[in-house]
Amino acid sequence: MSMEYSVPLYWRNRINYYRLIGGKCKKCGRIFFPPYNRCPYCGSDEIEPVELPRTGKLLTYTVSYNPPEGYKLQTPLIIGLVDLGVAKVVAQITDAQPDELKEGMDVEAVVRRIREDRTAGLIHYAYKFRPLVKQE
Ligand SMILES: [Zn+2]
Repeated sequence: MSMEYSVPLYWRNRINYYRLIGGKCKKCGRIFFPPYNRCPYCGSDEIEPVELPRTGKLLTYTVSYNPPEGYKLQTPLIIGLVDLGVAKVVAQITDAQPDELKEGMDVEAVVRRIREDRTAGLIHYAYKFRPLVKQE
């Protein structure tokens, strides 16, 4: 027995973990992330996967110095709202301290292994964003 995800099989197979895949509603045309099975805007279940830009702007962020159990090693925990142009994404901000962040700064998506369930052979990944380092 293996654990079932809510993501349909055909998506699971085509997910490339180094790309950012969102969902696009065929009915209303909205794009959202993560790719839910049902459109959060109009309720349609006709959703197709779309690749999202990997860079965007940090609109706003909050910092928690007392994060929930399971995130203690990541204190301070920074959660940001990132504007990718086609969609807005809420995600953890990584590789930066709060005083290095500015609203409106460029950020890029990175994929991090968050935990491994050895008994089930599953590796869980999460999308996070970090400040985009511009090449000089
Ligand atoms: Zn829709």
